Amino acid sequence: MSDPLKLLCLEGDGIGPEIMAATLAVLQAASPALNREVKIERRAIGFAALETEGSTIPKAVVEAAKTADGVILGPVSHNSYPPVDQGGRNPSGVLRKELELFANRRPARTWPGLDAPSRKAFDLVVMRENLEGFYADRNMFAGGGEFMPEPDVALAFRKVTRSASMDIARAGFELAASRPSKHVTVIHKANVMRMTDGLFLDCTRAVAEEYSSVTFDEMLVDAAAAHLVRDPSRFDVLITTNMFGDILSDLASELAGGLGLAGSLNFGAHHAVAQAQHGSAPDIAGKDMANPVSLILSTEMLLRHLGEIAAADLIRASVCTALALPETRTRDLHGALGTRDFTEVLTNLVEESAI
Ligand code: ATP
Repeated sequence: MSDPLKLLCLEGDGIGPEIMAATLAVLQAASPALNREVKIERRAIGFAALETEGSTIPKAVVEAAKTADGVILGPVSHNSYPPVDQGGRNPSGVLRKELELFANRRPARTWPGLDAPSRKAFDLVVMRENLEGFYADRNMFAGGGEFMPEPDVALAFRKVTRSASMDIARAGFELAASRPSKHVTVIHKANVMRMTDGLFLDCTRAVAEEYSSVTFDEMLVDAAAAHLVRDPSRFDVLITTNMFGDILSDLASELAGGLGLAGSLNFGAHHAVAQAQHGSAPDIAGKDMANPVSLILSTEMLLRHLGEIAAADLIRASVCTALALPETRTRDLHGALGTRDFTEVLTNLVEESAI
């Protein structure tokens, strides 16, 4: 009998508790398709943990994440947290740094039967470097990458290293090699950021040499934004630095139907964290209006990453079926269902197929 699959669930803030409950219900429904028994451990983060433990991401949570097989992370309202010295740290940034999650995989695809702003069907993945670039909260060994030498002067450092660039390039090419189109587009701004994006480009070109089955081109980030809007179907895997990836993946997800459908997986050599692309959506929190699909598809990616292919396929196919009809969609997709009713529809679909 193999060891159970240990998943750590962190609800987070805003709509986090609602979409985590939906995700766990779907996971439970998919359990017959899993190779191993699942053990769920729950810990508080965000405002709930700040209240009881004085930190939005207590040390014990980070330790629990390190010993889990995978983490399901709900959205967090980190922009509303108090300063770091009063316990307000961004759980997402802390976990990415502490677990060395160098890659953020963000797929965006249209779904059969579901209208999307994009006129063309598409299926792409943004592979975003996750630990450096312009992200001042995690790009330095000690201290932050952003500071104010004078009251009216604010500076931020962007860090690009050979090792992180090689890591994300390999992850992107590896993914592309497994996909039907087998194409990588590297997104950069090396015409302006000659050294930093120059180094990033050099690394991706070196990795491209290792993957003869994958075709490869390069594109400036501004052109990439325009091409995404014009024809997202021309892309397969986009490899890029941290902030460009953050922005382009939101654009791609919106073109595919909305942030409520946008799953993502953070991973490194030893750990993986499923995390919805969207934030905590405080405007709809507690109103039974949230679309849980983003966190559900993030968890589906986590299961796939952990080798649970049958369960992942089952969840993906059930989501596809639910999204195909207006009567089984949530309100953000012009359907009529609240979070709870949609979850029931989806868990029924998963249960029916799991038998
Ligand atoms: P935060 O401050 O945590 O980033 P936010 O509301 O500024 O939260 P998002 O959470 O990304 O940013 O939400 C942007 C908009 O999209 C909000 O109006 C929200 O209602 C909507 N939205 C985001 N996620 C979902 C979802 N899962 N289901 C339905 N609507 C969503």
